[in-house]
Amino acid sequence: MLPLRDRFGRVATDLRISLTDRCNLRCTYCMPAEGLDWMPQEDVLSGEEVLRLVRIGVERLGITTVRLTGGEPLLRRDLEQLVSGIAALTPRPVIALTTNGLGLARRAAALAAAGLDRVNVSLDTLQADTFADLARRRRLHDVLAGVRAAKAAGLEPVKINSVLMRGVNDHEAVPLLEWALAEGVQLRFIEQMPLDAQHAWQRDTMVTADEIRQRLSTRFTIVEDPADALARGSAPAELFRIAGTSHTVGIIAAVSKPFCGSCDRVRLTADGQIRNCLFARTESDLRAPLRAGASDAELADQWLLAVAGKQAGHGIDDPTFLQPDRPMSAIGG
Ligand code: SAM
Repeated sequence: MLPLRDRFGRVATDLRISLTDRCNLRCTYCMPAEGLDWMPQEDVLSGEEVLRLVRIGVERLGITTVRLTGGEPLLRRDLEQLVSGIAALTPRPVIALTTNGLGLARRAAALAAAGLDRVNVSLDTLQADTFADLARRRRLHDVLAGVRAAKAAGLEPVKINSVLMRGVNDHEAVPLLEWALAEGVQLRFIEQMPLDAQHAWQRDTMVTADEIRQRLSTRFTIVEDPADALARGSAPAELFRIAGTSHTVGIIAAVSKPFCGSCDRVRLTADGQIRNCLFARTESDLRAPLRAGASDAELADQWLLAVAGKQAGHGIDDPTFLQPDRPMSAIGG
């Protein structure tokens, strides 16, 4: 086994796979309303190709967690087969899914039966009209049904990812947390990152982690937990205890307090490119050698090289920072 080590000594064990760049929502911070071309279908890895690369990652390169994302991973009809194929690997990785929840109500039980361990559902608002403005589709009820089905299927703890946008849903920090406590799901706020297809992100309008904490503090007593800080390891979310409850709330301060030093992630795009960082400006093609008949050992070597070149940090604060050409929907969040 050769670990995916970079020149700063970090080891990637968490593989995030984008299964498609297509999505059935159009969240403003991620995709334009229209006009974004999809990847040509022949460029997208087949289920068999994805499984081969995951097997190489698990058997040869020390991958222990596989997160399936997109685009919207539930748009892949073969998702259940992919999950069961990954669950059959040795050593069996932890399998997680990041989804917008549309259609999850119908598939949560089958996904759990196939071996899915955990699910993160993205939900930024509890207001149907705000949802329709933010995601440009009127589907809030489907997401809520998906969250409940995930819980009923035992995919717990269900985590909820929320991005707050100034003047759009930033007044919903407290209602979102009240809802999460009532539903028994774990809420995590994610700072908006410069990954939108329109390149409209602006640092000075972003709702920061400190601001999110302040907003939550108007209703809850949010306590830093030193034990949790020690246990955080490579987890992106800083967890806070909510006094008087047994619950926590997470804040992912990817921009204002980057955690690149403990990053253990590596990404595979739907078209077979290894990205060693969300914000990488280069990627390494595994699809061409895979389709040209490369051996497992050759693909593993290429992957090792791709991770070895990882930068120390994402560099958003650097004056020379350039947003990656791919939007989040085509990278895999
Ligand atoms: N469609 C799935 C979903 O909605 O969860 C998976 C892909 S989506 C790109 C994964 C996560 O990235 C979502 O929680 C979404 O809110 C988040 N995301 C997308 N664009 C983002 C941005 N510019 N900044 C922060 N998070 C973003």
